[in-house]
Formats: sequence, C-alpha cells, structure tokens
Amino acid sequence: MTETLDTWQQSWSSSSKGRDTFQLFPKINLKRIHGNFYINQVITAHGVIGLYQSRCFNTSPVCSCGTSDEDRSHIVFQCPQWANIRKQFFPSNFINLTLLQLLSNKKARTGVEAIMKIKLEKVMKTLNE
Ligand SMILES: [Zn+2]
Repeated sequence: MTETLDTWQQSWSSSSKGRDTFQLFPKINLKRIHGNFYINQVITAHGVIGLYQSRCFNTSPVCSCGTSDEDRSHIVFQCPQWANIRKQFFPSNFINLTLLQLLSNKKARTGVEAIMKIKLEKVMKTLNE
C-alpha cells in the first residue's frame, strides 16, 4: 500500500497534467474527496472557467467584465460581476484568504457554487445561440 502511494505521489509530483490542482493539493491524500461538480471546476481550474475554455475551444480567455483573463482567482476573488455574491456569502476578510481557506468556509463555498452555477448557465446559453 505504501509503495502504491509513493508511486502515486511521485507520479502526481512529476506530471505535467493537473498543475492547477497540484498548486492547491501537492500531497496525495486518500481521505480528501471533493464530489461537488461546481467546486471541482474551481479546484481543477477546468470546466466553465474562461482560461480553460480558451485552451479547449480557442475562445477568448478574457472575462466578460473585460478587466482580466478569466482564471479561477479572478472569478473567486476579483471579478466585479460577482461582487454581490461575495458580499452575501464570503467573510469580510476573504481577500486575505487562500482559495482553500475560503473553500473550507461552508457559506463561502455556497457562494462559489452560486457563481459557478451562473457561469455554467451562461455558457449553456451560448451553446444554444
Ligand atoms: Zn471578470
């Protein structure tokens, strides 16, 4: 078992894949399971996040607010489009927290989920146009 975990850790540490997730979770852990569809997109920086969409579909990586490329940090901490959701769900000191610290706050996680749900709805709408 230990050998398997060591092999997994070595593979995770040296892989070129999943580096956004690696930034948050450099150590493997069998007890850490995240099964939330929306939160997983933030953790992996995949899904409806503009920078990822631009790599997959050759779309613009710039956020619809026009101020920055749309990476997970921009969405969660900076984008003016989500200021009201942050105000409603995030602790007042959120800007001083890391992404993982923020996600460990249940109410803030609900806010991040709300943002990602709206983002998914917007992406789905463009597919139907
Ligand atoms: Zn933005």
